[in-house]
Amino acid sequence: MRPSQEIEAAFAERVRFRARRQAQYLALRDRPCVTKDGQKVELMINAGLAIDLPHVDDTGSAGIGLFRTELQFMVGQSLPRTSDQLALYRTVLDAAGSKPVTFRTLDIGGDKALPYMEAVIEENPALGWRAIRLGLDRPGLLRGQIRALLRAGGGRALRVMFPMISEVAEFDAAKALVERELTYLRQHGHTLPERIDIGTMVEVPALLYQLDELLKKVDFISVGSNDLFQFLFAVDRGNAKVSERFDTMSAPILRVLREIARKSNAAKKSLSLCGEMASKPIGALALIAMGYRSLSLSATALGPVKAMVIDLDAKKAEAMLGPLLDAPAGSISIRQKLTEFAEAEGLAL
Ligand code: PEP
Ligand code: MG
Repeated sequence: MRPSQEIEAAFAERVRFRARRQAQYLALRDRPCVTKDGQKVELMINAGLAIDLPHVDDTGSAGIGLFRTELQFMVGQSLPRTSDQLALYRTVLDAAGSKPVTFRTLDIGGDKALPYMEAVIEENPALGWRAIRLGLDRPGLLRGQIRALLRAGGGRALRVMFPMISEVAEFDAAKALVERELTYLRQHGHTLPERIDIGTMVEVPALLYQLDELLKKVDFISVGSNDLFQFLFAVDRGNAKVSERFDTMSAPILRVLREIARKSNAAKKSLSLCGEMASKPIGALALIAMGYRSLSLSATALGPVKAMVIDLDAKKAEAMLGPLLDAPAGSISIRQKLTEFAEAEGLAL
């Protein structure tokens, strides 16, 4: 059956609308990402495969804030060889040129099962043997990946980030693997990276109570809001029946995010947020109001978020949001207030 004329027309309009919007965002591509009151905001993209790489330039992004290395492992029929990993990482760094790339080490296991690896049956895979836990228990895989990253970064700057760290000792152990591989490569005459920054995702709530210790050790942190919210609210991020039950623009979440920003800014450690929240203009608005100056988002979201940032008065947003977070939780709708602020300020959300 052919779709009705109305439906065809609606789709045609949608395509025109999107083309017009895209053209608008293209015009923003080369504009500096600075708020109306002069605050620089770094917008990066999330990526994971070679096909994502043209987006770095197409969007005018500041770099890749999250490169999900597990995607190469998930699309293949067998475990990628170290040489395949090295080739991909080199391609990524070449495509980014002088822009920074943050490589996240493998976040596999649990619900991100690999078809060619023996399945581990777990009752709660999201809470299970995954990411850095698997990496530290079976260090062969992680060491091979780290070696590939260090070789790809030879002669240039490299940023490595660990997923699902839940205590400082795990970060220490993971960092020790990097040191060990560096020693190996040095002994074997390889060109080492000119600079290595090592950081971690903040996505397990236990880390929120170790920020003081953690911030002394890391070069940077990046909030993984997808997992952090799922664990904070005990809500399965992939289950539509429950994932809409809580509002991301509510006091408990925003207070946590504000605390992370306060602590990392006080410790002068670079901070970013790379979960879905940054891809929504209202989320980006709240984050900037709380002191976030670096966000990593999906490529299609970069234009709309940048358009909002350029029109935003960050100081005014901060003055608006602060008292809302200090008001008794549940007494007001923060989402509603943010929406009203955006309307009054002429921001497109
Ligand atoms: C997150 O948890 O917010 C995140 C960015 O990582 P992923 O979505 O890959 O779990
Ligand atoms: Mg995550």
